[in-house]
Amino acid sequence: MARILYGTTKDTPGIKYVFDESIATIKENADGKVYVTFANNSPPATFDLVVGADGMTSRTRRMIFGHGPKNDDYLNRLGQYSAYFTISRTNDDTEFAQWWNATRGRLILKRPDRYGTTRVYMSVTDANLARFDEIDCLLKDGDQKAQQAWFEKEFQGAGWLTERCVKGMKESGDFYMQQIAQVKMEKWSKGRVVLVGDAAYAPSPISGVVCLLLSTNVIAYIHPGNRRRHRRRIRPRRRDLALTRRYPRCFAALRSAHAPIRRESTEAYTWRTADCESADCMGCLGVQ
Ligand SMILES: Cc1cc2nc3c(=O)[nH]c(=O)nc-3n(C[C@H](O)[C@H](O)[C@H](O)COP(=O)(O)OP(=O)(O)OC[C@H]3O[C@@H](n4cnc5c(N)ncnc54)[C@H](O)[C@@H]3O)c2cc1C
Repeated sequence: MARILYGTTKDTPGIKYVFDESIATIKENADGKVYVTFANNSPPATFDLVVGADGMTSRTRRMIFGHGPKNDDYLNRLGQYSAYFTISRTNDDTEFAQWWNATRGRLILKRPDRYGTTRVYMSVTDANLARFDEIDCLLKDGDQKAQQAWFEKEFQGAGWLTERCVKGMKESGDFYMQQIAQVKMEKWSKGRVVLVGDAAYAPSPISGVVCLLLSTNVIAYIHPGNRRRHRRRIRPRRRDLALTRRYPRCFAALRSAHAPIRRESTEAYTWRTADCESADCMGCLGVQ
């Protein structure tokens, strides 16, 4: 999508793309403009609007909204930590995805990809979040070797193709891991800074409804009723006219448009792992 957007707009007058950059500070001035400084080489600049689309652990969100009332960075932790990586394809693999549940909330999913290799998803699920204290620190440190060592330790004795997957994990060139969590916020905008996507309302990768949420944004914009109601808010009549007042209203309109689907997608998950010790239990993946 980034490629499509960039390809279509890169030569459009008035649009400037800057790569390898990230925001260091954001400050809204009395004149309504947003003053932004950057972490790398770009000079400070002022903008009419800043959109933070920097994912579930958004730094833009932290800069504007702080750590949240519960000091949890607005993250609703679902008690699952997952690793993703690619391994070589062997005769163990079929043309289908294969899924292995082991005791203590351990899961391996592997599937063939279209490049002749095999993608692996390994995850540990536990309602007891204390089990993840160590990996949570390692995730923040970004030390991949240590993260892999944690997964290796957790998967000891998990059976099936664990040994092959762990070996492949350590040799893979594209390993990454994350916590499975949701982002829950009362508001997604403050003045002229707005969050979109996972930064604002991540339902979690395992919800499967991110695309739906994004398309609902589009529907909220093009739906005739909405457009009539919010036209003046969405399209400023005069470019320089008090945009500060208008943007927040526009953001509120979008927010209310996909409230129902967001509510369902972010409130469904409760893991059932606490008393699970059965070797063939599917309950670890169940949702209540
Ligand atoms: C394995 C996996 C499977 C998934 N499957 C599905 C699925 O089947 N269906 C579905 O709907 N969703 C799925 N998801 C979730 C979906 O990928 C995300 O919800 C979606 O990518 C969120 O898009 P985003 O643009 O908001 O954030 P992201 O895709 O996270 O993009 C954020 C971008 O911001 C950049 N960034 C971060 N911090 C900074 C910073 N400080 N400065 C500058 N840039 C920064 C990042 O490098 C990244 O490019 C899956 C996710 C994973 C991991």
